[in-house]
Parts: sequence; structure tokens; C-alpha cells
Amino acid sequence: MNTLDVLAIGRLIRDGDTIIEAHSTSTLIRAGNVNVVVDTGSEEMLAAIKTSFRQIGVLPKDVGIVVLTHMHDDHCANNDLFKKARFYVRKEECPDGKNFVPVSEDIEIAPGVRLLHTPGHTEGSMSVIVESERTYVIAGDAIPLEDNYRRMVPPRLNYDAELAMESIKCITSYADVIVPGHGPPFPKIKGKMR
Ligand SMILES: [Zn+2]
Repeated sequence: MNTLDVLAIGRLIRDGDTIIEAHSTSTLIRAGNVNVVVDTGSEEMLAAIKTSFRQIGVLPKDVGIVVLTHMHDDHCANNDLFKKARFYVRKEECPDGKNFVPVSEDIEIAPGVRLLHTPGHTEGSMSVIVESERTYVIAGDAIPLEDNYRRMVPPRLNYDAELAMESIKCITSYADVIVPGHGPPFPKIKGKMR
């Protein structure tokens, strides 16, 4: 069965509308014979991510696939840690480079691990659905904070608020547990319509 470990819990600190600090959550999925990392976090999280790898007993060089939910700095500052990985990024924002794989469809990248286009925060925002003992959705900034889910409000930073709300609803239709872009995983509320 697929295993999901949060390598580092991200945080987002705001003063009114100004972002003071932004560090994304970084997640490891062990799926059959491939290790997948979703988002590589900010520079400040590198030490915590390395510590988590040591504790889990996986080496960063044994990560075969990195999925970047989108290309904001606080989600992809430690890409260099993953020397042997291929980087999956939605085609709308995929950089050039031999290790980058532009994603144009919601493909399965490993058994029970599926990509889901969830635009709104950015055009190429992408989530990852992981089938384990429960269904996890790693949402990136499609759901930046648990608060966005609880209050059903789009990410404050968005290019299309309506599309962002559609993406939140889509994610919650699949998920038992949501891993937000910033903060720890949280369960879907039973009885909540979405
Ligand atoms: Zn972002």
C-alpha cells in the first residue's frame, strides 16, 4: 500500500495582505518501487526535510519523481536535493530543462498516485491524489490553508477566483484527507456538503 509522509509542515505568515513568510508543506509518497516528492519547500525548510528523510530511511537520491504543484519559490526552492528525479510540472508553467516533464493530462504517475489539474491560484496549479488506507489529496496552493476549506474561500492570491473555487470543490470531492499548501494535513469534515 502507498505510504504518505509529510517531510516538513509549511507555514504562511501574513500581516494583513502582506505575506511575511511563506514555506510550503513538502510530502513524500512511497508508491510501490518509486518514491515521489510533492513540492520541495523553501530554503528555510531544507534542514527539516533532510532530517525527515533520515528518520524515514529514504535517501533524496532515491526519489524518482518530484511533482511541483506550481512554480512559486516557496514550493520549489530545494529541487537540487533530488539529483536523479524527473520533475513533473503542468505545461502552463513548466520550465525548460531536461529533467522537467510538462504535464498536459491527469495521468497516473505510479499505482494509486494520480495528478489532478486544479487551476485558479495559478493557471498550472496541480494536485496529487494518493490512494492509501484513505484517499489523500495533496493540494498545493489550490487549498493553501485549512481555513480556505473551512470557509470555502479561494486562495487570496489567485488569477481566477471562480476557477479556484471549482478546484477546491473538485479536490474535496475526492479527498478523505487534504494536505494543504501550507500547514499540516487535515481530514474532510463529515457531513460538510463539500
Ligand atoms: Zn503559490
